[in-house]
Amino acid sequence: MTATPILARARAARTGCACALAVLALVAGCSAEAQPLPSNPPAYTAPPFPAQAVTIPPNAPIPPPDAERCANPTASLRPTGEGKSARGKALDAIRARGRLIVGLDTGSNLFSFRDPISGVIVGFDADIAREVARDLLGSPDLVEYHTLSSAERIEALKNHDVDMVAKTMTITCERRQSVTFSTVYVLAHQRVLAVKDSGVNSIEDLAGKRVCIVGGTTSIDHIRQIQPTATILTVPTWADCLVVLQQRQADAVSTDDAVLAGLAAQDPYTTLIGGSISEEPYGIGIPKGDDDLVRFVNGTLERLRGDGTWTALYNRWLPVLGPTPPPPTPIYLD
Ligand code: GLU
Repeated sequence: MTATPILARARAARTGCACALAVLALVAGCSAEAQPLPSNPPAYTAPPFPAQAVTIPPNAPIPPPDAERCANPTASLRPTGEGKSARGKALDAIRARGRLIVGLDTGSNLFSFRDPISGVIVGFDADIAREVARDLLGSPDLVEYHTLSSAERIEALKNHDVDMVAKTMTITCERRQSVTFSTVYVLAHQRVLAVKDSGVNSIEDLAGKRVCIVGGTTSIDHIRQIQPTATILTVPTWADCLVVLQQRQADAVSTDDAVLAGLAAQDPYTTLIGGSISEEPYGIGIPKGDDDLVRFVNGTLERLRGDGTWTALYNRWLPVLGPTPPPPTPIYLD
């Protein structure tokens, strides 16, 4: 899923053009008189925005923060201690089906994306889902992925289209009104990605600028709160935001450092800037009522923290985030 940096492509194209022009000039000089330049050179056409792009103008009203505060959004249900043999309605239905249906997207480099060689969906989130399938069904391969954009996560869970969502999903009080979450498995922080030497060096520099953010994410309101004069461009995937930044249709991208690091890894002309805007604790999203599955997933996360798998997965996918932290400590409700 590596995007060729747009600057590199532009340079290669320019070099190619220069050679071609030189050859043309030689040929023209030998065979005929120089042709006059066209009086109306073709006009430059700006690239189109990605499908479903929506602009939120500066100073648009900001919805009130989490109407219903909850005491500790990241507290979840304790594993039963029965391990792989735990039973329940949701668990039995998945066992009867023989596959774990997991919602994620394929445009989040490092978390869930298609391996460019094999075409297989891989990444930190994909591997966490595979570990749940290993414990529940006896094989990490018994996973069926359903592609979801960030904005589709909650509805997919409410409709039981998927058993769980593993997609860089922040646990919030508002979301907990509609879905349930596992314990925290990654603690990310919202930051900003900009093109190096573009003049955008801090969050303050976003005043009056255009910021690309995926629709249906926590990232939108955080930027609107701290930089109300920024225009927000929402698109369906983070890969769209990288293209929009490369095409200079936005001045910056803002979301979790974990996601931005995946974009920066695809384009060396981009860099993360500024400090943390907010804490973004990731949880596995699970439909309301499927408490047996919540406890089971929390049991798998306990195993991953204890047997070194979490650290191995972090080292495999997320070293760009800096030194490997210890796994997040779980908080239980009961
Ligand atoms: N963590 C943020 C959220 O859940 C953004 C990440 C994403 O959408 O992939 O809204």
